[in-house]
Amino acid sequence: MKAVQYRTPGSAPEVVTVPDPEPGPGQVLLKVAAAGVCHSDIAVMSMPAEQLGFPLPLTLGHEGAGSVAALGAGVEGIAEGEMVAVYGPWGCGRCRPCTQGQENYCLRAKELGIYPPGLGAPGAMAEYMIVDDARHLVPLRGLDPVQNVSLTDAGLTPYHAIMLSLPKLVPGSTTVVIGAGGLGHVAIQLLRAMTATRIIALDLSEERLALARTVGAHETVLSDAKAADRVKELTSGAGAQVILDFVGAPPTTATAAAAAGIDADITVVGLGGGTVAVGFGSLPYQTTVTSPYWGSRTELVDVLELAHHGALDVHVETFGIDEAPLAYERLHAGKINGRAVIVP
Ligand code: NAD
Ligand code: ZN
Ligand code: ZN
Repeated sequence: MKAVQYRTPGSAPEVVTVPDPEPGPGQVLLKVAAAGVCHSDIAVMSMPAEQLGFPLPLTLGHEGAGSVAALGAGVEGIAEGEMVAVYGPWGCGRCRPCTQGQENYCLRAKELGIYPPGLGAPGAMAEYMIVDDARHLVPLRGLDPVQNVSLTDAGLTPYHAIMLSLPKLVPGSTTVVIGAGGLGHVAIQLLRAMTATRIIALDLSEERLALARTVGAHETVLSDAKAADRVKELTSGAGAQVILDFVGAPPTTATAAAAAGIDADITVVGLGGGTVAVGFGSLPYQTTVTSPYWGSRTELVDVLELAHHGALDVHVETFGIDEAPLAYERLHAGKINGRAVIVP
């Protein structure tokens, strides 16, 4: 089968032919219908080899959806042909966070050599993929896999981040969304569906700000050195209650800190290497800074439920599997509006 692999440190992903996988005991084979292209893959492919923590080649794709093609020995409760989305942050299934569905915070994954598909284990950017356990599959119940595959990360990660701050997102509150890309443009829709907060979106281009408005942002601001001042103006000097930073680079974490109001939550989701200093006087009183990772199994079920209600419309640009390297090039160049999805 064809697969999109990151093979050599520092080089671009390649489309190669690899043996068709077969499901072992307890595993499920999926015929992939769609695989999302996440900016985290670019972060991974920019790391020095020794920081990777897993061997190459790696079949990419940590957002996956498809139909059940075959069941390994002993798998029950799921039928061949069923359309499913893949919960990606695989854990051991037995430690305390895992038993709460928070496999994204598994205590033993590293020690047991368990990696998410596309981030250590062979991923979804191929004609077929192996899912290690049926508990990592959520039925799509009629949702289109291409339209909704990115909810497994670009939906789940912002959902989890928003849930952390839900009590603060009361009517009259303000949320700043920094980066209206793959994650950010879904975050805006989630905020609209789940809360009555006022949303101010920040990005670098008018095209991205237009997307932010289309999906529900109340205000948009160009992300420059004056952006935090503009947020202060728009909030009559008070600052925002919640700042979701989907870039996480030094200029945006600086904006996040400067845009925060008293008792704010600053949530750094992006992997851009920026930091927020905490210490008395460095931030408004009682401001919380956190950097969450992905989300829980339960939260993925909830995100798909919102999609069933018609609340989420991922803006998708599709590419064939042979065009996957081009999709990464375009994402790297900031040319994807919404989410790129590979349809193998
Ligand atoms: P993306 O490229 O689709 O979107 C990023 C957006 O940020 C783009 O619209 C871009 O124009 C904008 N941007 C870039 N620099 C900016 C700046 N200085 N100010 C304002 N906007 C700016 O990327 P994505 O796939 O949505 O991922 C976003 C980030 O989240 C990445 O760093 C990714 O690695 C990270 N991520 C983290 C998690 C997690 O669990 N913490 C999960 C998924 C992705
Ligand atoms: Zn991702
Ligand atoms: Zn665990």
